Amino acid sequence: MASDEYIVMLPYLAHGHLIPFLALARQIQQRTGFTIIIASTKLNIQYLRRSSVSVDDSNFPSHSSIRFVELPFCSSAHDLPPDTENTENLSLNKMINLFHASVSLKDPLLHVLHDIIDQEGRPPLCIISDVFFGWAVDVAKSVGAMHITFSTGGAYGTMTYVSLWLNLPHRSTDSDEFKLPGFPESYRFHRSQLHQYLRVADGTDMWSTFMQPQISRCLESSGWLCNTVEEIEPFGLDLLRKYLRLPVWTIGPLLPQAALKKPSSSHSSSISGQHAGKKSGVPPEKCLEWLDLKSADSVLYISFGSQNTIGASQMMELAKGLEDSAKSFIWVIRPPLGFDINGEIRAEWLPEGFEERIRENKRGLLVRNWAPQLDILAHKSTGAFLSHCGWNSILESLSQGVPMIGWPMAAEQAYNSKMLTEEMGLSVELTRGHQSVIEGKEVKRVVELVMDEKGKGKDMRKKAAEVRVQIRSAIREEGEEQGSSVKAIDDFVRTIVSKRGALTANQLG
Ligand code: UDP
Repeated sequence: MASDEYIVMLPYLAHGHLIPFLALARQIQQRTGFTIIIASTKLNIQYLRRSSVSVDDSNFPSHSSIRFVELPFCSSAHDLPPDTENTENLSLNKMINLFHASVSLKDPLLHVLHDIIDQEGRPPLCIISDVFFGWAVDVAKSVGAMHITFSTGGAYGTMTYVSLWLNLPHRSTDSDEFKLPGFPESYRFHRSQLHQYLRVADGTDMWSTFMQPQISRCLESSGWLCNTVEEIEPFGLDLLRKYLRLPVWTIGPLLPQAALKKPSSSHSSSISGQHAGKKSGVPPEKCLEWLDLKSADSVLYISFGSQNTIGASQMMELAKGLEDSAKSFIWVIRPPLGFDINGEIRAEWLPEGFEERIRENKRGLLVRNWAPQLDILAHKSTGAFLSHCGWNSILESLSQGVPMIGWPMAAEQAYNSKMLTEEMGLSVELTRGHQSVIEGKEVKRVVELVMDEKGKGKDMRKKAAEVRVQIRSAIREEGEEQGSSVKAIDDFVRTIVSKRGALTANQLG
């Protein structure tokens, strides 16, 4: 395989997308020696540079590894605050503006591509773009490159999200339950599983007018890459392949290498998974030292991902339920919805004396804003994860054999939670969204159920341990047989290389 080939990647402007793209770039680069060029806006490139440890960031056009190319972007031209180039801390109103504004990256990308092609003497082997960048299909066609869509989510979540946006099935029924095209006839979704913008989407609103054309263009790609593992999502993958009628390569889990190599152990000296620019009130080592004092599987880890927070009354009830349960916990805590997410935690958001009590009786640890999630999940004392069901969090949890409690918030998280609960038996859903009414006693019930050493808790942990083995087998490079994800990435590379000749001939013809 010629190593002087190159691929262009185009991630969406959100941390949860940039990081899997960077991991994918590394995977392909390491397996093939191809140059990978990641194109994004200035601030996102800065973030990627900070996040990458071993990538070569010398200027194009050296041929060594992964390079970054800046695409000019003026946020204020799109009614966005200055320097808004990422979804982080954006309200929904601004988030949709950013989606629409991202389409304006098309011309700068074309411009940059033409320069690169002039220097390289040929188009990239393919352009891999995010599912939100359907416009890149045109760009790829116009420069004679293959187009591949990369869905950073799982197969089931992607399938649900794609079909919901393309069909808006809840619009044609008054019932709370509805069928979804592409799913079995008897399968039902519930209106409460829809995020608020999808609930009101009618095909003419700002969300539909972005999502529908972008996602439907991606159906014209030559194939999809999916950040999942063949063995853990047979149902979702079967549906997705039938619906897309395209090759779907399962190349996950795209996680930091440390997450997959490290055995479930006690204290580790290297703190992995730190997020460029995120600050925590507790030094990462403290979390692990605290966990070292606990017994196996006895601690519940609670986090709502990189950008979510819950409502003030939800926060109060969560705290009450945790205190009433007999279980230990680490809670990554942020100010509730409506307050500065990076601000201080006020006493009135928690039961009186809560923090002092849990500190004294060593029952809980509150970590402001950000925790070393991967290390916590890999620790032997961690027995379950209360999560917003972001796909990265799910992969991280399952790769460590940790079952979950679902509290989905946005995007495709409710469908991820449904799959974990109904298809995999690896989670119990506690509630949904920022505004649901949740009582402390329900928190206590679910926490005790999942953390139980016997019964359901034990069953879930056993199943999660099996999934952990499946995930690790999927990325096995050596030994008796290569894992399914390793084979899939090799097959993907073989396919794009073999199609280059045909594509160039067509283009010329
Ligand atoms: N994360 C972390 N510490 C935290 C919160 C989040 O390391 O306190 C990381 C987590 O390990 C995961 C990512 O942030 O890699 C969150 O991604 P996910 O897809 O779960 O959710 P999102 O933030 O995109 O909603």
